[in-house]
Amino acid sequence: MISIRDLHKYYGEIKAVAGISFDVAAGEIFGLLGPNGAGKTTLLRVLATLTRPTRGRAQVDNLDVVGAPFEVRNRIGIVFQDPSLDVKLTARENLDFHARMYGLTKPERRERIAEVLHLVDLQDRANSVVETFSGGMKRRLEIARGLLHFPKVLFLDEPTLGLDPQTRRFIWDYIHDLSKRTRVTIILTTHYMDEANSLCDRIGIIDKGRLVALDTPSKLKNNLGQDMIQVEIEKRENVETGIFSAVNGIKEIIPHDGTITFSIENGEAMIAPILKALSDRQITVKAVSLHKPNLEDVFLHYTGRTIREVEESELQLQKRKSRRIGRGRKPA
Ligand code: ATP
Repeated sequence: MISIRDLHKYYGEIKAVAGISFDVAAGEIFGLLGPNGAGKTTLLRVLATLTRPTRGRAQVDNLDVVGAPFEVRNRIGIVFQDPSLDVKLTARENLDFHARMYGLTKPERRERIAEVLHLVDLQDRANSVVETFSGGMKRRLEIARGLLHFPKVLFLDEPTLGLDPQTRRFIWDYIHDLSKRTRVTIILTTHYMDEANSLCDRIGIIDKGRLVALDTPSKLKNNLGQDMIQVEIEKRENVETGIFSAVNGIKEIIPHDGTITFSIENGEAMIAPILKALSDRQITVKAVSLHKPNLEDVFLHYTGRTIREVEESELQLQKRKSRRIGRGRKPA
């Protein structure tokens, strides 16, 4: 349903998408996972014909996004990251306005609006003004609007951003249910590991505009090995990985930001030898944890950093930039 080959999108010097290729099958829920600024939204915008690629090719239902943008638009629905409902209108009026833009006739509109409202369980609130809706209800209405013209592909950009944990789970259930009932192909972006894990058939992990991993959540995790041990150390000093040579079953050691993460077999038995190797070098340990591999570990494995670390360093970079810009400005 989606085919992407060597896709690039540059904004001046910024390589937002830097050579990405993958395919998505019909009916799949496919997640693009990555930290802020990784290039997820840009990739969606190219697929949704909202921006042209700098180089490379993208097709939706065998139609080229540059060569046949109108045909592509007929086949896709999109729910943007930022809410775009008219809060002074009712749910039905919001949907009706959208359906008119797609050129649906009055009987078609009546039938389809009833159907999509039912899909997201908002049929009882059809005539309520949207400003009276909760965050989760607004999100569901936006999803309904994206489905109005029964698209083959639905793009969801950060579908649960800013929602509380309970509402996020409800939205996941709706998306899951929707995919089963309508067989629509769903491409969503997220930087929530749990969202990608529980919702997606396959996940593409994006970092700095590149696809660093692509597989089912369970395969991505299983490839890492049996167990993960994380050791937080007192000082953010560089630890030579050679000091753990006596510890058995280590598949990988990743030191990052005051923490050492081990991918290891038989982790429970290996905690003591790891701690001994550290205490022999007078390295103080603040915390130790043992867990089964998760998607955060997968991201760490492929990028050498956790998503949180990437986002924090991005934030600091932006703050430094805005301080520099601030210093350069003349007083008004
Ligand atoms: P988030 O999770 O925060 O939405 P993202 O993974 O969706 O992030 P993008 O929004 O695709 O990331 O941004 C990728 C890079 O491209 C960033 O460095 C961003 O600043 C830059 N970028 C995106 N849109 C534009 C634009 N219109 N003009 C200039 N730079 C842009």
